Amino acid sequence: MVSYGVITPIEYLKGVGPARAEVLKAELGIHTFGDLLRYYPFRYIDRTQFHKIERLHPDMAAAQVVGRLIQLEERGERGERKGRRLVGILKDDTGTIELVWFQSIAWLRKSLQVGGVYVVYGKPQLFQQNLSITHPEMELYQRGAKEIGSMHLQPVYSSTDKLKKLSLDSRGILKLQAALLETLSSQLDEELPDYIVNLHRLMPLRQALTAIHFPRNQEELGQAIRRLKFDELFFIQLKLLKSKLLNTQKFRGHRFEVVGERFNTFYHKHLPFSLTQAQKRVIKEIRKDTASGAQLNRLVQGDVGSGKTVVALMTMLLAVDNGFQACLMAPTEILAQQHYQSITRLLRNQIASVQLLTGSTPRKDRRVIHAQLEDGSLDILVGTHALIEDAVKFKNLGFVVIDEQHRFGVEQRAKLWRKNAIPPHMLVMTATPIPRTLAMTLYGDLDISVIDELPAGRKPIKTMHLYENSRLRMFGFMKEEIARGRQVYIVYPLIKESEKMDLLYLEAGLETLMKEFPLPHYRISVVHGKMPVKDKEFEMQRFVKGETQIMVATTVIEVGVNVPNATVMIIENAERFGLSQLHQLRGRVGRGAEQSYCILMSGSKLSKESKLRLETMVRTNDGFEIAEVDLQLRGPGDLAGTQQSGVLNLRLADLTTDQALLTEVRARVIKVFQEDPQLSDLRHARLRQYLSQKEPGISWEKIS
Ligand code: ADP
Ligand code: MG
Repeated sequence: MVSYGVITPIEYLKGVGPARAEVLKAELGIHTFGDLLRYYPFRYIDRTQFHKIERLHPDMAAAQVVGRLIQLEERGERGERKGRRLVGILKDDTGTIELVWFQSIAWLRKSLQVGGVYVVYGKPQLFQQNLSITHPEMELYQRGAKEIGSMHLQPVYSSTDKLKKLSLDSRGILKLQAALLETLSSQLDEELPDYIVNLHRLMPLRQALTAIHFPRNQEELGQAIRRLKFDELFFIQLKLLKSKLLNTQKFRGHRFEVVGERFNTFYHKHLPFSLTQAQKRVIKEIRKDTASGAQLNRLVQGDVGSGKTVVALMTMLLAVDNGFQACLMAPTEILAQQHYQSITRLLRNQIASVQLLTGSTPRKDRRVIHAQLEDGSLDILVGTHALIEDAVKFKNLGFVVIDEQHRFGVEQRAKLWRKNAIPPHMLVMTATPIPRTLAMTLYGDLDISVIDELPAGRKPIKTMHLYENSRLRMFGFMKEEIARGRQVYIVYPLIKESEKMDLLYLEAGLETLMKEFPLPHYRISVVHGKMPVKDKEFEMQRFVKGETQIMVATTVIEVGVNVPNATVMIIENAERFGLSQLHQLRGRVGRGAEQSYCILMSGSKLSKESKLRLETMVRTNDGFEIAEVDLQLRGPGDLAGTQQSGVLNLRLADLTTDQALLTEVRARVIKVFQEDPQLSDLRHARLRQYLSQKEPGISWEKIS
């Protein structure tokens, strides 16, 4: 519950005033009392944990020492910006260590006091035989100072140069927090229903907000953090699940009453293989949704090769059986074509009518397609985002499948949504496995199905990691596979920052290849992002048709392309790719019955992280396991699709480490809505109030 005190503008806080308020707003986004209160320390100085200088060594991740700053001087030439640095020497009773700064030199010279005793925090490193700490955090050590100085756990807030100039360094911010808590203490009302606080054994909110800024001990701090993380996750889930509820209540869905003839004929007569258990389960889940009378919004996750296309096709047939049209949208022309081909192949020109619509569909064909869509004679339309153009009108669109979801924005989804008076069911398919916790947070408004099983008989791809000195061995291996009639991908990195170098590198590699694999015996395709689209498509098609045996490419082939005869994926400079990208690339092979291989080529100098990435690739083929490692390495902010979501601006909770808490929270929110969908129960008054305040645009009261 937001009380008046919390929304008071920050300039009214004792000790702030207009000048500081301006800077607090501009630098930290702190506009109100509440904003400041939620500006949490990013770490705590544990005053029981100091290291002696002689004990420091470069393997420590970070260390805290206390000592006297006995010297401070600038080194390096004046005019020359690069080498300019500020060097301090810190001394305790066991030795000295250098402190080095390359930035904010003028400011630091003014504010640091030679002769002062400091608490210094940072990572010790060895540079030219000397132990030093670069850009350490510095805090004057005030032994015996009342209150703040006597705290065992002293909070550290991040600050900026501009704030520091107004004496709002970490300590300055701490003083503001003290003033704030004094002003607000009687007004920090509980936000959660009391019964939830009790059931989950949560520290009361007022106490938690005090303790996170002024913890008395580690135990209290831990409880405070748990409480505040709980709230953070709780309210995100509350909003997500509420909008899901809104969707299902506001939007009636087309009811697919029957499993009809087309579906059954296809299943019993056409399907050239038997479905995996996972495919069956997912089709059942979709079938259940579409029969319910509510609109379906479901995400289907399945690793590359798990057979998502046939699931999409069968659910589209379900729509057709019930008198509706269906469409499937893919992110690129080549993928749309492949879907179209595999669907027409599976249907063998029977059962349902299918057309392909992309940017390069000739105008006269387009006109025919438009007409067929409007008179209802076309059942299934496959295509690219050409599908969402206004000219494309359906007679009765009932089911939409979107492949490789993260390439499409929310806006595009909405456009498809509006192509029928009652919005069509939406099925989103992605081959980028998203760890469960992240999926729950990101797609809380979608239901999730997982195809967690590959078709039987697939041989797991064998992955190995080779260094440059094994290149000849690699060429030999390629020749063997090509002699067996197989095809090979060779992928080079190409990123914006180093585009020119990357292209040169690709060209050099290509030259070597052409010598090693000469015409006319060998034929090579080249595809990279800098080529005109037409040429790209042409080269791609040559490889797809088997006219070339080697495809040299940048990551343009990453998504979805299906050439079952390709059995070798070679990735050059593999250390430069992210894990999920490596996994996507590897997924281009292993699509047929033959044994497939992935060879990761790398330089010999590898960072710890690159090593872990390559080792992970060699160890496992499991996309979900890889996604977990990726999440731990990079954090959720970098994962595909998370940027626009806006739900990841978490202050405290960490989706990597707080999975158990998130599960607990989500289960609670679900229970709340199950027991009281309208939140009309008196127990839930606070939640109801929270939702109506935070989103004035949606009138919560109207749903009933
Ligand atoms: P993805 O999930 O990566 O989109 P696809 O749908 O392209 O995978 O399927 C990959 C290949 O596996 C296709 O050639 C498809 O026909 C085949 N396939 C799909 N399901 C099965 C199954 N149950 N048994 C055997 N092969 C299957
Ligand atoms: Mg696919």
